[in-house]
Amino acid sequence: MPQRYIKKILDARVYDVAIETPLTEAHSLSKRFGNNILLKREDLQPVFSFKIRGAYNRLVQLSEEQKSKGVICASAGNHAQGVALAAKKLGIKAVIVMPQTTPEIKVRSVRDHGARVVLRGDAFDEAATHAHELIEKHGYTYIPPYDDPDVIAGQGTVAMEILSQFSKPIHAVFICVGGGGLIAGMAAYIKYLRPDIKVIGVEPDDSNCLQAAMKAGKRVILDEVGIFADGVAVKQIGKYPWEICKDHVDEVITVSTDEICAAIKDIFEDTRSISEPAGALGVAGIKKYIEREKIENENLVATLSGANMNFDRLRYISERTEIGEKREAILAVTIPEKPGAFKTFINALHKRSITEFNYRYADAGKATIFVGVQVQAGGLGRG
Ligand SMILES: *Cc1c(COP(=O)(O)O)cnc(C)c1O
Repeated sequence: MPQRYIKKILDARVYDVAIETPLTEAHSLSKRFGNNILLKREDLQPVFSFKIRGAYNRLVQLSEEQKSKGVICASAGNHAQGVALAAKKLGIKAVIVMPQTTPEIKVRSVRDHGARVVLRGDAFDEAATHAHELIEKHGYTYIPPYDDPDVIAGQGTVAMEILSQFSKPIHAVFICVGGGGLIAGMAAYIKYLRPDIKVIGVEPDDSNCLQAAMKAGKRVILDEVGIFADGVAVKQIGKYPWEICKDHVDEVITVSTDEICAAIKDIFEDTRSISEPAGALGVAGIKKYIEREKIENENLVATLSGANMNFDRLRYISERTEIGEKREAILAVTIPEKPGAFKTFINALHKRSITEFNYRYADAGKATIFVGVQVQAGGLGRG
């Protein structure tokens, strides 16, 4: 089966519109973690994510008749922009159905590529249903975000570039997983050429559809998924991706929201670029893996998959990085409402710095306080 995909990946037409992105060393991360950490900079693509690869490779293979009727997708995210730009490049009409709740900036960037945006429903499901109604009516071709062999092959070109850009041994490649299109294409290529390289998926711990499938030995549908890393908030791994992943992915690591935030900061320090939450999963996974395996001086690659971040979320993220780096702990404590109780509590913290403090009068007997405490990096003793 990978052979079929290898041919498709080698054949994939992506460079009319996508660029070969750099594979750069993350110097300060490498130093801090005692390994050589490399970032595959897909955030530098024309639409700020790798999605343009799969979308273009799918569109370019349509028949003339399909091209003349136009394409459609339902997406509020990076896939919408990939389809819009690919369609513009090929002179194909594109219709993108988005939920009415989609932020204006995303609607605009899709319109800027010349696509027609239809706003429908409050959630993704309603938008998807409407897209299928439009297909019935107008004969558009549906372009899936991950569950399609040509899309998977387009994303697989990321791995093709990595292996040609870096010829030394690679211990592992860490790949973010949503519906699995990216990791499937990359795993097929890597395991065919260099089976010694570990392929490790990284998912948010509240959106882990590939990990759940690997555990169950079959695709499962998650009841709910967290949406912090919106680029990977998918309830079920794709059918085609699963056929590849079940045999070619070595393991899946999950990370918390705080760990993702900390990784966004790490990436910023090394590149001065802001990754979106999904884009930082690879780095978050690398940090966890190094701590667990205690490896040193290995070459490790993370896909930095995208940079479509809403600006207004930066404040939330920067606040949470302290927690993700385990430099700060937030405690909710109940103490007796009487003289001296607060002093006793402070003494119990020894010399740790207090970073935040909140007192609420509850009743005459006890008080509830919230405190942020520095727990590392200059906290102990030096407070
Ligand atoms: C789509 C996307 C992913 C997940 O890719 P899948 O092929 O669905 O697994 C990860 N990161 C970003 C930035 C994305 O846009």
